[in-house]
Amino acid sequence: MTPEDTQAFEARIRAYVGREMGPPRRGHDDVNHAMIRHWAEVTGDGNPLYTDEKFAHASGRKGIIAPPTMLAIWAMEGYPMAFAQSGSGNAQRELHNVFEEHGYTGVLGTNTITEFYRELQPGDQVTAHTVIDSISDRKKTGRGVGYFIETVTKFTDQHGEPVGRQVFRTLRFAPNAEALAASGGAPAGDAAPLEVPTRIQSPRGHDNAWWWEAIDQGKLLIQRCKGCGTLRHPPRPMCGNCQSLEWDSVESSLEGEVYSYTEVSYPKFPGYPSPLLCGLIQLREGTRLVANIVGCDPADVRIGMKVKGRVERVDAKTVLPNFYPA
Ligand code: ZN
Repeated sequence: MTPEDTQAFEARIRAYVGREMGPPRRGHDDVNHAMIRHWAEVTGDGNPLYTDEKFAHASGRKGIIAPPTMLAIWAMEGYPMAFAQSGSGNAQRELHNVFEEHGYTGVLGTNTITEFYRELQPGDQVTAHTVIDSISDRKKTGRGVGYFIETVTKFTDQHGEPVGRQVFRTLRFAPNAEALAASGGAPAGDAAPLEVPTRIQSPRGHDNAWWWEAIDQGKLLIQRCKGCGTLRHPPRPMCGNCQSLEWDSVESSLEGEVYSYTEVSYPKFPGYPSPLLCGLIQLREGTRLVANIVGCDPADVRIGMKVKGRVERVDAKTVLPNFYPA
């Protein structure tokens, strides 16, 4: 982008500051026992104030209360929001579209600050009022060049009284040089190319570093028990069949078939191809491993399809076994 383009872009995004994200969002459900119980279960929060009426009464309350951290949950739009047509009527979505159009395709929730004004109890109705509060100057971050967007949500109850407030900060960034090129080049004043992101690095520990080191050398090894000869993958210290700790390895033929697979279409990860096909590959030797299926249309992949692996470099830091249709 030329300096003029950057100026025009910044004027466009700044026009959103102070705007309501959309109409206030009234929660689909009142504060209720079932959601409170599920929340307490999945978070492992055993506080009896959330589930035990007697205990709650004894504490001087009218009954159980909702965990304060559920505040934002009560007015969430729900799962279908993720698939809603983006754009009209929601200023926040419009704003994010403007960022995307200009190459700022990366998005990262960076932090939230939440204030709680009173305890919520079953029967309360929560409404959220969200305003786009501020957009930072252009910043250089570890993820790329971008802007911090801060929204402020005020939560009110059925009487219009405030019950809490949440500040949510998001970074929109241009993740790499490619994304910038697609949007018309590097932003003004930033001539240095940004680092192209690589895949998440493999965790290498005492029990599996040898396997990754062989991959780096272009070999797919399979661990073999020295006691009973059973093959196993992923690498681990003990044989599940005879409990021997002695092992060596054999080199895989890289021949196999698709045992199962899935296509990761959302979210898109910087550094990963899209579509991303993750296969569970049944190797001829008998073990299975998770690896990418490449070199074919996702629609053509079938369970049972014969594949042949190649251990190859996928980015500046990463060598992986990829499986192609045989
Ligand atoms: Zn064994």
